[in-house]
Amino acid sequence: MTNVLDILRLTPKTNCGECGFPTCMAFCVGVTTGKASWKQCPYIDESKAEEMFPAKAGNAEASGGLDPDTALLRELKQKIRDVDLGQRAKGLGGRLIKSEGGSKGLEFTYLGRTVVVTPSGIVDGSGRELDPRDQILLYNYVFFGGRGELSGQWVGLESFPNSVSKVVTLRRYTEEKLSSYFEGRSKELVEACKKIGGKIVEPCHAEVCVRVPILPKVPVQVHFWDSDQEDGFPAKVKVLFDKRALDFLDIESLIFSAERMAEMMVEEES
Ligand code: SF4
Repeated sequence: MTNVLDILRLTPKTNCGECGFPTCMAFCVGVTTGKASWKQCPYIDESKAEEMFPAKAGNAEASGGLDPDTALLRELKQKIRDVDLGQRAKGLGGRLIKSEGGSKGLEFTYLGRTVVVTPSGIVDGSGRELDPRDQILLYNYVFFGGRGELSGQWVGLESFPNSVSKVVTLRRYTEEKLSSYFEGRSKELVEACKKIGGKIVEPCHAEVCVRVPILPKVPVQVHFWDSDQEDGFPAKVKVLFDKRALDFLDIESLIFSAERMAEMMVEEES
């Protein structure tokens, strides 16, 4: 079966948006969840893609997409059985729990809500399975198996290696999305952050600074400057990451996690 990182390797990772998705990572998740076809990316090498998605009659992969029931998630659920969740728990900022049936799960918070990673899926506090995009992100977090402590130092994405094109993606699909949506409404931005577990940080050089724990070891700081009508400055958002963020997620997943944060803030507020 094909997983999201296999498909990601076929793309140039430039996040150009021509496929209709904001990032290569979002596109690859779309392919694995049956919402997109690899053919939507004009830069994928056809021969390699055809090898990865062999055409078979009646096979959803023949059209370049997978079974909407997500072959990837089935694969990830299978793979998680081989992971010692108890051993990963501390490093990921989670805890091992046992369900009434005796099966083990890894519990942690994701954008302000409790989630439990189990071999049968990732569910929220009320037992509802999460959106496949979130599940794929969270499985990546668990498989990445980060450990150690965060640095407590905040840096822009541009501080990470090979991040030039990624900075543009973060700006376009997270920072500009937030600045245009919350322009003139800094209080609403703070409220939306709080709903996903954010807390105000003071003092800060920005007009508003909120720390949002996307995942226990993947916090971000959202800095917001509202527009200045007199001087003609538009609203601006800058997202900062912990200096050690790449010890806990690959850079594509990191950007994807910030995009999900922005999407949820807008959803929470609308
Ligand atoms: S996957 Fe989409 S965003 Fe990435 S290079 Fe291809 S067309 Fe551009």
